Amino acid sequence: MKKKKISIFGSTGSIGDSTLKLFNTNKKDYEIYTLSGFKNYKKIVYQIKKFKPKVFIVFDNHTYLKIKNKFKKKNVLILNSENYKKFRFKLSEIAIAAIPGIAGLKPTLDLINMSRKILIANKESVICGWDLIQKKAKKKRVNLIPIDSEHFSIFNLINQEKLSSIEKIYLTASGGPFLNLPISKIKKVKPIQAVSHPKWKMGKKISVDSATLMNKIFEVIEAHKLFSIDLKKIEILIHPQSLVHAIIKFNNGLYKFLYFEPDMKIPIGNAMFNDNFKVKTISKNSTNLKFSENLNFKKVDKLRFPAIKLKPILNKYISMPIVLNAANEIFVDQFLKKNISFYSIINYLMLLLKDQKMRKYAIKKPKNLKTILLIDNWARNKAMQIISKKN
Ligand code: NAD
Ligand code: MG
Repeated sequence: MKKKKISIFGSTGSIGDSTLKLFNTNKKDYEIYTLSGFKNYKKIVYQIKKFKPKVFIVFDNHTYLKIKNKFKKKNVLILNSENYKKFRFKLSEIAIAAIPGIAGLKPTLDLINMSRKILIANKESVICGWDLIQKKAKKKRVNLIPIDSEHFSIFNLINQEKLSSIEKIYLTASGGPFLNLPISKIKKVKPIQAVSHPKWKMGKKISVDSATLMNKIFEVIEAHKLFSIDLKKIEILIHPQSLVHAIIKFNNGLYKFLYFEPDMKIPIGNAMFNDNFKVKTISKNSTNLKFSENLNFKKVDKLRFPAIKLKPILNKYISMPIVLNAANEIFVDQFLKKNISFYSIINYLMLLLKDQKMRKYAIKKPKNLKTILLIDNWARNKAMQIISKKN
């Protein structure tokens, strides 16, 4: 039987790693067609040798030239962020969109031309450009499946249900590494502490977002966009065990939730292989006893997680999510570079929202990529201005 093609945008990251591990256990029916990376030279070399993709796209041009040179006599086509657009890809049965930030939006739109089914991990693309993604996928008849654990859960739970029967959706948040640290100490945390997530092993950006709770704020918008659910119906709960990922309360009094180990291979594997998926090894430290562990759910503490104050204003203007996402990308990056403190990420975001020009950009309809990037660009520049004024 002909092998089915798997392509991954962002294959050298954490979602890419999980996907490639799943491929390793299901090799007989699948082949790796296209992979992509950015600046991680060693990992790109490793993935080309190990997984033998037909095509490897290197988005950073300096790294592209080095990789192209290294593999010039080999059986792999190396492309860059420009020339891949002209290449005629064969259709992949399964594609994964996992390039973080707004940088992932254009590649995700391109991935729609190359795939039958796309597993969407990159929440920033969804919150900034869902209308474009959805429209194009419909036109090209591409199936979209969210794999962010909360959204994968909701997707499964509401499969057979009417939207009008839903009273509330609770997204759970682990609380990240600072759930129990005294607030006076959180003020002084270093990047290395913020990226050490207690439950999930993820890329740096999403790890910092989990520590500030911005990740959950973005996930509220993500759920609102993906499932057309009123923002007021979506709540956030702290659930330190990370075993229940979303809870749905129905009008008829029933609650449903999905329970699984905090291991991205579970949502990814189920979305990739449909019913033919058996988990062999769950996360390292899992034991059967975990099932009897107490499950705690509690409200978000506003002092510890000031990001929660953003929740009521998320839909104040149509493009507020684009503004928030862009500014947050800058502030997280500057925190990782040790230029600003941990709580400055949220304090500066709040400050930026008060800027006189914010409304002018946030009211623009995100009708095409150009407008989205215009709004994104304004917020990035403003964020940098705020930092230079404060420092
Ligand atoms: P990561 O940082 O580990 O990996 C990012 C990948 O994208 C790498 O392959 C990197 O080379 C590539 N990349 C980075 N910047 C790029 C750019 N400008 N252009 C092209 N390629 C670029 O991130 P991750 O943890 O795998 O997360 C990927 C996405 O999935 C994010 O949007 C994140 O929010 C989402 N997500 C991740 C997890 C998780 O467990 N890791 C869970 C849910 C959602
Ligand atoms: Mg999530």
